[in-house]
Amino acid sequence: MTSYRFKKSSKGQSASSPPASPNQPKPGPRTKHANASKPTTDGPRVLYWFRTDLRVHDSPALHHALSLNPSAFIPIWTWDPHYVYRARVGPNRWKFLLESQSCLSERLTELNPRQKLNVVREAPASVIPKLVRKWKVDVLVFEKDTDAYARSRDEEVRRAVEGLGLGVKVVVCAIGRTLYDPDELVRCNGGKPTMNMSQTVKASALIDPGDGGKKGEPRRCVPTPVTLPGPLSAEEMDLSGDPEFRHEVPERAPDFNQEHRNGKEEGHYESIAGPRNDFAVVTLEEMGIDPKLAMSPHKGGEREALRLLKTYIDNEEYTGTFEKPKSSPADFGPQSTTLLSPHHHFGTLSVRKFWWDVQDVFEKRKKAGKQNAPPPANFPGQLLFRDMYFGAQAALGYAFAQTRGNKIARFIPWHLQSNHSDTPVGEHLLDGTYNVDDEQAEEYFRRWKEGRTGFPWIDALMRQLKYEGWMHHLGRHSVACFLTRGGCYVSWERGAEVFEEWLIDHETACNVGNWMWLSCTAFFSQFSRMYSPIAFGKKWDPDGHFIRHYVPELKSFDTKYIYEPHKAPIADQKRWGCQITGDGTEKGTKDMAKYPKPMFDFNEKRQFCLDKMKEAYDAHMYGDDMRVMSGEWKSMFNYVDGKATMDETGGLVSGTKKRMRPPDDHEHDDGQHADVGDQIEEEPPRKAAKTNGIAKSSKGAQTKLDGMVTRSKKT
Ligand SMILES: Cc1cc2nc3c(=O)[nH]c(=O)nc-3n(C[C@H](O)[C@H](O)[C@H](O)COP(=O)(O)OP(=O)(O)OC[C@H]3O[C@@H](n4cnc5c(N)ncnc54)[C@H](O)[C@@H]3O)c2cc1C
Repeated sequence: MTSYRFKKSSKGQSASSPPASPNQPKPGPRTKHANASKPTTDGPRVLYWFRTDLRVHDSPALHHALSLNPSAFIPIWTWDPHYVYRARVGPNRWKFLLESQSCLSERLTELNPRQKLNVVREAPASVIPKLVRKWKVDVLVFEKDTDAYARSRDEEVRRAVEGLGLGVKVVVCAIGRTLYDPDELVRCNGGKPTMNMSQTVKASALIDPGDGGKKGEPRRCVPTPVTLPGPLSAEEMDLSGDPEFRHEVPERAPDFNQEHRNGKEEGHYESIAGPRNDFAVVTLEEMGIDPKLAMSPHKGGEREALRLLKTYIDNEEYTGTFEKPKSSPADFGPQSTTLLSPHHHFGTLSVRKFWWDVQDVFEKRKKAGKQNAPPPANFPGQLLFRDMYFGAQAALGYAFAQTRGNKIARFIPWHLQSNHSDTPVGEHLLDGTYNVDDEQAEEYFRRWKEGRTGFPWIDALMRQLKYEGWMHHLGRHSVACFLTRGGCYVSWERGAEVFEEWLIDHETACNVGNWMWLSCTAFFSQFSRMYSPIAFGKKWDPDGHFIRHYVPELKSFDTKYIYEPHKAPIADQKRWGCQITGDGTEKGTKDMAKYPKPMFDFNEKRQFCLDKMKEAYDAHMYGDDMRVMSGEWKSMFNYVDGKATMDETGGLVSGTKKRMRPPDDHEHDDGQHADVGDQIEEEPPRKAAKTNGIAKSSKGAQTKLDGMVTRSKKT
């Protein structure tokens, strides 16, 4: 019997098997259809389903699958039409995913030259049972996933496989994409969603890692395999000619990603094993996406993730002193934070490896008498924020991703609210469309999305997002506040959708959670604290380097006008090669570019938003309120015939009943995000010093968010 080897366990690695579900089989006798094959060991045939764990290091599910000592090991990825058509994914994230899959495939081949990732192009619930039967699989292994769609998908797959009646075991292994199992966090938080850091820290302190480690600590990393069992023979793997695998092209409509396709979707879904019948990774061209549209410089794959992590860990000063609120949103090439988030999303980097490697640096520095940055601003604190949002999502399921039906989401009668459906569409219960109740708001939204608001700081950030697929956390704060409660008064759900489409690190739990935070829908309630689209950026980057890079029309403007170019005299505008005019849709010439005037007066809009937010808060309604569900809210807020009649003076109709909630434990502000505190006009941080390729903020940076404005402050 061959036994599959792992790298020797080192500090931070546990050699023990990861905790798995109770139905986890031991290596042993094969099940019903096993005799038909020629095993190389007497272990089971294992079908391993990769999802958000595109790596071989610290993968609890992979570790478990290999510990079964398989006679054949078949790693697959299901190219699920649900994600392809019903999740919003732009070209940059597709590219990142495909690079990550290709890298994983190469890593598997390194471990066994006969191995690779087998991409099967069909929905998992229909294709996995067929594969199990065809390939005479004994055990199906995959990692637990608490995202709403993933939960229902996995349950459907489990039922379908068990329903075959072949005695196939389905093993759902311990979660590997968060520090703690989100369901455990919820259980230890009294069954409630984790809504702030103190709840998250308290709940996590009660969790036993189950690997002999200390209670409250995340589980240690499992060892990386150094060999892999082989797959089946090419003949056994071949699906062509089998009538059960005659492929039906999936229903495309509604295709949320239509606008990225060029109408030439060739060979994409014509065959389960792909156009060359080789289970190869899909290409952008097959998806009908022009690779030139995927221009992000950020690369996917486990190798790149580990390389990046090593750079940070080797730079002990950076890792030991990192504090998020002191990192500049205006740094680029390199950015001031790690940009590991897309790797956490796709699982090309284990969050627990990141956590334990950082702990090792902390330990070393402590021994050397050096001080480490405190939580939650430090790296471990940032990872806990991530877990907090996963905990909130795990408790609420589909409802978490929208206001309607969501008990933690305050109801605010934003413009451009989502239309809803009674059945899940995409990752949401919403139908993917929204109600244009106000043409002006629709225009604000379009201009925000396209980076032509006339506020250079906002436009630079939105263009960075669109072209590169990533934005610094405080940049995300600026644009999210601006779209919702700090300018446009447009629903946070519109903004979350744009982020879903364009972010390479899009993670439903984090995206939705942070949008609710920024819009003061949940997690945070200090709506009087807003980000100025002018002063905030200026404090980080007074010379406007960031704007000059991402809004090149303005690159020659004098620093005095870089944040407010419309104030520059016409003669200077001409001299600097850009006229400030129009709405950003008019093309300039080679010699004279065009950039729009601000689309509104920020001070006016700020006041309007403050008044509206106050009215909404006074109504004390949440997404699960009957008045929200029935549409009664429309009469309360003068919202007639699907068109909002709210104006600068209108508002909540008098006489509405207030339903007070019990004291709300959702609204604590832990002081962890940067948008806290009253010192709004502090000294700007000094220009970040760059060390070892990593931008590092100066010590003098403020710990509170500067550039935020309150009602009484001017921009
Ligand atoms: C409106 C809005 C939407 C967001 N959408 C997403 C999203 O879709 N996916 C996503 O991963 N993050 C999201 N974030 C959180 C945060 O902005 C990013 O995680 C962070 O900017 C990623 O950059 P980094 O890897 O350099 O972070 P670092 O500062 O280097 O932090 C290290 C890691 O901690 C985690 N992390 C840090 N901050 C947060 C946070 N506030 N919430 C959750 N995790 C965090 C990430 O995994 C990150 O890689 C959003 C924030 C806002 C304000």
